[in-house]
Amino acid sequence: MITYLGNLGSGQQVYVENQGTQTIVTLFSSSPGQQQSQSNSFSTGSWVKPPALFRTASGVILQIKTQAGNYFVRLQTNGMSSLNETPSLSNAENIPLQQTETNPTSTMPSMPPMQPIEPMKPMEPMKPMEPLRMGDMEMQMSPTMQMRMGNMELKMPPMGTGNPAKDGFCTQCGNQVSTQDKFCSRCGYQLR
Ligand SMILES: [Zn+2]
Repeated sequence: MITYLGNLGSGQQVYVENQGTQTIVTLFSSSPGQQQSQSNSFSTGSWVKPPALFRTASGVILQIKTQAGNYFVRLQTNGMSSLNETPSLSNAENIPLQQTETNPTSTMPSMPPMQPIEPMKPMEPMKPMEPLRMGDMEMQMSPTMQMRMGNMELKMPPMGTGNPAKDGFCTQCGNQVSTQDKFCSRCGYQLR
């Protein structure tokens, strides 16, 4: 889809696009901190030539050239309207229109092509965490959460599904076990 872009000055841009027999005109106005856009669709018929843009005393005129003849749209800051009669363009200043791939509904800059994603490296097995010590408090997060404070001791079973062999830790002692293990190698707890 080829879109034509015209710069109207003072932060205003117009995008013109032919979709079937419809001409889509989108007017963008941007001032610091805000952006506005309005879009109108006109039944012009298919284009036979690229559109043209003129600055006249009565506003900016967009000329759409179709098989049925010329179609004119007046662009103003507060809107746009189709013209029933051919405006006088003898003293009009031509505003150049350039072809663009930009989608008028998106003002985002086009993204650079994606780099092929490298296959993920297998994760390295986690190292057991060092016990955390604060004064007489000692905390250990894995394999089981343990907390010791003075002569107080708190132990929590590892979180999971409750299936020791599946979770990879013995529910009895927190020892790391493999899914193939039938018994914990440390405490002999029956895993399955
Ligand atoms: Zn065990």
